[in-house]
Amino acid sequence: MLSGLNIEVPPNVPRCIAVAEADSALPVVRNFIGGSFVPSRGCPDRLICDTNPATGADIAYLPCSNKTDATDAIEAAHKAHKCGTWRNLPVNERARILDRISALIESHLEELALIETQDTGKPLSFSRSVDIPRAVDNFRFFASSIRTSTSQSTMPMPGVLNYTQRSPLGVVVFIKPWNLPLYLLTFGLAAALAMGNCAVCKPSEWTSRTAHRMCELIDEEKLLPPGVLNLVIGYGSDLGPTLTTDPRVAAISFTGGTATGRVVAANAVASGKKLSLELGGKNPSIVFEDCLPQLAQTCTNVLRAAFSNTGQICLCGSRILVQRSIFDPFKAKFVEMVQQTIRVGDPLDTRTTMGPLISAPHRQKIVNSIEALRQAGAVIECGGEASGFAFFSPTVVSGISHELIMNHEFFGPVVSLHPFDTEEEAIEMANTSRYGLAGTVWTRDLTRAHRVAESIDVGMVWVNCWLLRDLRVPFGGVKDSGEGREGGEYSLRFFSEDKNICIKYYD
Ligand code: NAP
Repeated sequence: MLSGLNIEVPPNVPRCIAVAEADSALPVVRNFIGGSFVPSRGCPDRLICDTNPATGADIAYLPCSNKTDATDAIEAAHKAHKCGTWRNLPVNERARILDRISALIESHLEELALIETQDTGKPLSFSRSVDIPRAVDNFRFFASSIRTSTSQSTMPMPGVLNYTQRSPLGVVVFIKPWNLPLYLLTFGLAAALAMGNCAVCKPSEWTSRTAHRMCELIDEEKLLPPGVLNLVIGYGSDLGPTLTTDPRVAAISFTGGTATGRVVAANAVASGKKLSLELGGKNPSIVFEDCLPQLAQTCTNVLRAAFSNTGQICLCGSRILVQRSIFDPFKAKFVEMVQQTIRVGDPLDTRTTMGPLISAPHRQKIVNSIEALRQAGAVIECGGEASGFAFFSPTVVSGISHELIMNHEFFGPVVSLHPFDTEEEAIEMANTSRYGLAGTVWTRDLTRAHRVAESIDVGMVWVNCWLLRDLRVPFGGVKDSGEGREGGEYSLRFFSEDKNICIKYYD
């Protein structure tokens, strides 16, 4: 919330129509349950419209699944887990299958990138170079991780041997957002499958089609036993309660907004599930005065951290804190670069660097927020304009109190600039937000970099860079940005349970 400002946030869900109203020329996506592609059993008469946010045109229809379908998917996953074919496969064989899935995604990169771009509006160049390659890497990385993981340990006592066995959890539910659809889903899914779990995936219904296509590719080669991977598509409000409370679900990997995460957490905790929460952020980019000699380079990097994927990455740095002595030159250069280097337009045009927002309702939330800021006296340095179906120009705001904005996640192409005087003040400002996902520090002084990085309350800090990702490192936030860590060994641990077996020898 923008503290003290009244902002209307329209519900961000696509519309639903009767099957009879559907355009027969458009494809109809189905759920993938128990190894078969099936229409919604719970709500067979309605379809969700999948709309291209760059044009406003419907491009496909999706099942409007409800608790019946969620229960079917959980049942299929539970049955597959009990049957044990997947979890009992030798590690090398599971790894070989994950490598094959990775190769399939890679060989369909162009097709998947186009689907992701049509669903999200992100530039095709971004889907091609970021989203789909990362999905390829996720499967490849966790295939190699389980081949080399040496999780089992032995602890002998006199006449006794303890050994630790790492087992899969069972049924794991994935509830994921629309901003990096296949990228985020496969980050958890690849690790969970690697550890021998069975999965029920619920992508955002704005962006379900790459997950659906991945299931088709896996199914064409019958790579996974039926029920190991399930996909159920529909509104979170219809599916969420079942997916997060069914006693057969052992764990939930949730990525999304903090408010939804709280609901998921309450359900999961009440029914005793393991939980990984990756939630919202309002990440500080802290720019110190010693960056002045590299002003253009610093602005380029801070700009990328602010506006990548139309600012719709949870890690985007949207609170830009700049040391007062360089505030004016930084602001002038930054605004100039935003105006001159970001090219908003058709996501299919290779020259485009910024596409539309995910949807018209999400754009309306941004429009309402900017209007509230204007009324509160903010200076709109550039941008602030809506166009087309869901476009919004990259926007830089100044002259607004930090307290007013520090907890308001636009999740769009809007950043605010705030001056600070001392390092202590910068740290204080960074830490007053209720969020604690990530932060960046821009300085040539390495001692200061270490000091500030250690002092800011976030899960991840980048110094003089942003979104440099090594899949082995822990990923996650603190405070209202989430709990738990995924990534590398953290993921393998989250998606498994260690059991100690203690054996006493007979005398
Ligand atoms: P969201 O509205 O919270 O939705 C996330 C997922 O939860 C969607 O699949 C949604 O389905 C589902 N959902 C909705 N209500 C539910 C319920 N009652 N029970 C269970 N699931 C439910 O978030 P979003 O708008 O898609 O994504 C943007 C947010 O995600 C931002 O706050 C961003 O910071 C955060 N995010 C965080 C990370 C991270 O790693 N920390 C990464 C990416 C995004 P519907 O689509 O049907 O509502």
